[in-house]
Amino acid sequence: MAARPAPYLDELNPAQREAVERLDGPVLMLAGAGTGKTKALTARIAHLLSTARARPNEILSVTFTNKAAREMKDRVGRLLGQPAEGMPWLGTFHSICVKLLRRHAELAGLKSNFTILDTDDQLRLLKQLIQAANIDDKRWPARMLAGIIDDWKNRALTPDKVPAADAGAYNNKGIELYAQYQIRLRELNAVDFGDLLLHIVTIFQTHQDVLEQYQRWFRYILVDEYQDTNVAQYLWLRLLAGAHKNICCVGDDDQSIYGWRGAEVGNILRFEKDFPGAYVVRLEQNYRSTPHILAAASNVIRGNENRLGKELWTDAEEGEKVRLIGHWDGEEEARWIGEEIDAMQGGTRGARPFNLDEIAILVRASHQMRAFEDRFLTIGLPYKVIGGPRFYERMEIRDAMAYFRLVVSPGDDLAFERIVNTPKRGLGDKAQQTIQATARENGVSLVDGARIAVDNGLIKGKGGNALRELIDGLARWNAMTRGPRIEVDDDSVIDDGRAPMRFGEPEVSHIELAQIILDESGYTAHWQNEKSPEAPGRLENLKELVNQLDNFENLQGFLEHVSLVMDNEQEGDGAKVSIMTLHAAKGLEFPAVFLPGWEDGLFPSQRSMDESGLKGLEEERRLAYVGITRAEEVCTISFAANRRVFGQWKNAMPSRFIDELPEDHVEVLTPPGLYGGSQPAAGIETRAAEANVYNSPGWKRMQARQGQYGMSQPRETRNTVIDATAVASFTLGERVFHQKFGYGAVVGIEGDKVEVDFDKAGTKKVVSRFLSTKDD
Ligand code: ATP
Ligand code: MG
Repeated sequence: MAARPAPYLDELNPAQREAVERLDGPVLMLAGAGTGKTKALTARIAHLLSTARARPNEILSVTFTNKAAREMKDRVGRLLGQPAEGMPWLGTFHSICVKLLRRHAELAGLKSNFTILDTDDQLRLLKQLIQAANIDDKRWPARMLAGIIDDWKNRALTPDKVPAADAGAYNNKGIELYAQYQIRLRELNAVDFGDLLLHIVTIFQTHQDVLEQYQRWFRYILVDEYQDTNVAQYLWLRLLAGAHKNICCVGDDDQSIYGWRGAEVGNILRFEKDFPGAYVVRLEQNYRSTPHILAAASNVIRGNENRLGKELWTDAEEGEKVRLIGHWDGEEEARWIGEEIDAMQGGTRGARPFNLDEIAILVRASHQMRAFEDRFLTIGLPYKVIGGPRFYERMEIRDAMAYFRLVVSPGDDLAFERIVNTPKRGLGDKAQQTIQATARENGVSLVDGARIAVDNGLIKGKGGNALRELIDGLARWNAMTRGPRIEVDDDSVIDDGRAPMRFGEPEVSHIELAQIILDESGYTAHWQNEKSPEAPGRLENLKELVNQLDNFENLQGFLEHVSLVMDNEQEGDGAKVSIMTLHAAKGLEFPAVFLPGWEDGLFPSQRSMDESGLKGLEEERRLAYVGITRAEEVCTISFAANRRVFGQWKNAMPSRFIDELPEDHVEVLTPPGLYGGSQPAAGIETRAAEANVYNSPGWKRMQARQGQYGMSQPRETRNTVIDATAVASFTLGERVFHQKFGYGAVVGIEGDKVEVDFDKAGTKKVVSRFLSTKDD
């Protein structure tokens, strides 16, 4: 059927159009960000359908995220002027492979109702095998084995195919345990994530008839973000496209950011070898960003040695330069961005008023999100977190908050229910029912019910002991929210028949108390012992939560804040600012983008900087390129001189990527707080401010260099701040300093708690990270 002139073709440039209309044979679109690869891919689907070259179910179309798949479906519908019906094979590799595997489960030794294990289950299973093999899983953690197995699966290696070179993996036991693990999974009728592809590839490799069936079925194959495919995905595509070779892949080597998950940028580079005669389209016109933004991104990515090297151009209007701003600390950065967004919304910033859904904040690490969420909740700015729950909705944060609530209000039964068996204390349904019943019979709270149940031997054994420990802990922590009782003999206290009570200052700060609660309840250890890939992130979030307490007088005040801001939250479909990680932002675009936290150690990550060789650093640089190229009109990069990371203040150097921004395309803004306008408030911050950091020669030098490109963090500031916060291991007798209690000498050490005889405050036990060594 001849193609009618279609509106979706009119919107394309000649190179894109060629890639859309050349339906037969392999096509590779290798082009930089914002050049319309995804747009062309979408038009190609529309073209296949509208020319009746393929039915919706004959098109296999792979996107990187489910969100991208939904968007593509919507766009196809819009291009055709009617909803895209069907398209059952438009999705992520995983979603498509689940469907295929359900159809052919028996060929992989499974039943079609197999379960997909999550990482926790996967680790538990591996642990059992490790123990059965008498391997010390302290030295050889299950998580390590899981990583090795995932890596093999990403490379499409079944146990029998793992090369001899890998025989030493996991203390020479890796391959054997991998084989056992696969057998165990089959027995359980289960697969892990990596299996979804591995099984399908194996089925295709060993059952020619099945492969041929799908080769006929999927007459056209399209792949977006091809630079991020791993070997297994690549093999899968090559097998499917092997007969008709109607495969169109689009990607950008400069945007390969999943190397850490086994993606092989080499796949895109050898496309022409795999599919001889492939038609290669190079797109160079960028339709997304202004010239300044494009120049900034291009200059940064030029720092990478390993790249094909593509030049982009745009005929868009000049627009604003990329804006660069340094802040005192992360909270200040969030405050400033909040104000900017307000101004942009009102039309007083930038060329035009911006809608909230035109604005995105892209962070390197998810723990950065907390500062923004808090700020936005406080000022009532609607936002959404893409690709994960909002900070206070995260499981570990809710657990921790439940502990805090219970400590402040022992009658909070909901909080008790949440944490009574978290971490696991051996209190199953039966024990919990006993607690409920006892509380009901006695008309008391669950905590009190639990105490009665334990006292009366209704809950015994291991669970009973653990429960007793929890109840005692709660009482102890509750007592710590107050200082010692002060006898009052004072007419101003109204005598209501009870002994008048007053309390002195608590002996530990609420920040320390929070840490003590999390540590002594076993909750911190619960995540430390958990070796799943998410565990480190959860621990980071917990530390971020404790950091956050510094902004409040006490636990109570903090809890009130959270309940207020969470209540405040506007639900519904109104426009919202998007907050997400740079990884999650791939393929997306926004008129205005904020890129906070450009500091060495955060971005690029410490890990990539510590690594020998350039691989990690180059991947971080590609991430920077992805970040900048998400912006259409306004791009604002920021960094903070101080940041609390993992519970400690760190003095940060501006990111090395900032040095790579081209001077001519960057406007350096002057932070409002820099000249003493907004000085930080409490605790350590006050100390730093007292130390007159703002007036230090180094900070002044930095001011003087505003406007100049490539500022660096003055040494003087660095020393001042670190002095106040450095954490060392302590020795008995050593002189130390504590934020709240001042100077003293170490008289005892117990794990991470240190007993200190303070000069003014007497002997107290404090958490070591709140102490610094000090030669006064
Ligand atoms: P990325 O590498 O970031 O995924 P991409 O190459 O996939 O980028 P698209 O998202 O397809 O780029 O397109 C970027 C923007 O440019 C979109 O807003 C798109 O609508 C627009 N665009 C693409 N091609 C054209 C064109 N020929 N004319 C006008 N606008 C276009
Ligand atoms: Mg794209």
